[in-house]
Amino acid sequence: MADELKQGLLSVVLPSFNEEGSIPRAADTITGLLTQAAIPHEIIFVDDGSKDGTWRAVEEQSHLHPQVRGVRFSRNFGKEAAIFAGLAQAAGDCVVVMDCDLQHPPEKVVDMYRLWQQGYQVIEGVKTSRGKENPLHTFAAKGFYSMISKATGIDMSRASDFKLLDRRAVDTLLAMREKNAFFRALSSWIGFSTTQVEFEVQPRLEGESKWSIRSLVRYALTNIASFSAAPLQLVTLLGVVVFVCSVVLGIWSLWQKISGQALEGFTTVILLQLLIGSILMICLGIIGYYIAKIYEEVKDRPRYIVAERCEGPKNDGQAEKDI
Ligand code: UDP
Ligand code: MG
Repeated sequence: MADELKQGLLSVVLPSFNEEGSIPRAADTITGLLTQAAIPHEIIFVDDGSKDGTWRAVEEQSHLHPQVRGVRFSRNFGKEAAIFAGLAQAAGDCVVVMDCDLQHPPEKVVDMYRLWQQGYQVIEGVKTSRGKENPLHTFAAKGFYSMISKATGIDMSRASDFKLLDRRAVDTLLAMREKNAFFRALSSWIGFSTTQVEFEVQPRLEGESKWSIRSLVRYALTNIASFSAAPLQLVTLLGVVVFVCSVVLGIWSLWQKISGQALEGFTTVILLQLLIGSILMICLGIIGYYIAKIYEEVKDRPRYIVAERCEGPKNDGQAEKDI
C-alpha cells in the first residue's frame, strides 16, 4: 500500500502582517516538523505591507533555512490578497495556507499532507471551537456565516483559512479573476474531492489580532456582496411590502374621501413619507454598494503589488510569475 502513496513538494503559505515576533518561531516550528516527518517542503512568507520588522525577519529566515522564501507587498492589501500571492508563488504539488501566528496548529499540516497522499484534493481545517472571543463577536460571526453558508450552499460555520489544496485546486483558484475573492468560501465552492481535519484554535503567542471591528465589518460586507446577490432581492422584497401597504392605505383613504371625512391623517402622511423615503435610500445604498463592487472589478487593478522578493542562498531562482 505504502508505495502507492503520492509524493510531492508541499508549499506552506503564511500571510504575515506586522508579525516580526512570530516569523522566527513559525519558520523554526514548521521546518522542524516537516523535516522530521520527511515531507519535502518550501515555506513562503507573504509580508502584507507590514510597518514593523517583519520583512527583516523573513529575510533572516530565508538565509537560515534554504527552503524559506518571501514576498513583500508595496503596501497592506489584506489577508486574501496575501493568500493569493502565496498561491501564485508556490511551486509545490500541494499548498497549505495557514496563519503565521501559529494559531493554526502546525502538527495538523502533517495529517493534511497524509490525506493528500491518499488522494484528497482539498483538505479543510475546521475549528472545533472558535477560541476565546467576546459574545458580541460570536453573534456577529454566526450571522455572517449563516448568510455565506446559504449563498454557497456549504456549511461555513466552522470554516477557516487553514487548508491544504492540491495543485489542480490551486490552479483553479488562480484562474479566477475576481478581485474580491473570499478564499475561505471559494476554496470550498470549487469542489474536488474534499475532506476535513479538525483543529483547536490556539491562543496567539506574539502580538495581537490584526482585526478591528471596522475591518471585520468591511470584510463581512465585501464577502457577502462577493458571494450573494440576496441583498438586491431584499430591495425587491421591500418594494413588494411597500406596494401592498400602499394598496391597503389607498383603498382606505379613498373610502374616507367618498364618505366625506378626508381631512384627518396628516400624521399618517408624514410617517409614510419618512418610511418610504428611508426605504428608498437604503435600497439605493444597497444597489450602490454592488455598483461600486462592479466598478472595482471592471477597473481590473491587480489584487496586489509585489515590491520585493527574497529567497535563500540555495534556491534555484524559480517562480517569477506574478500579479
Ligand atoms: N494578516 C494579513 N494581512 C492583514 C491582516 C492579517 O496578512 O491585513 C495575517 C496575519 O499576519 C495572520 C493572519 O492573517 O497571519 C491572521 O490574522 P490575525 O491573527 O490577526 O487574525 P485572527 O487570528 O485574530 O483571526
Ligand atoms: Mg491569529
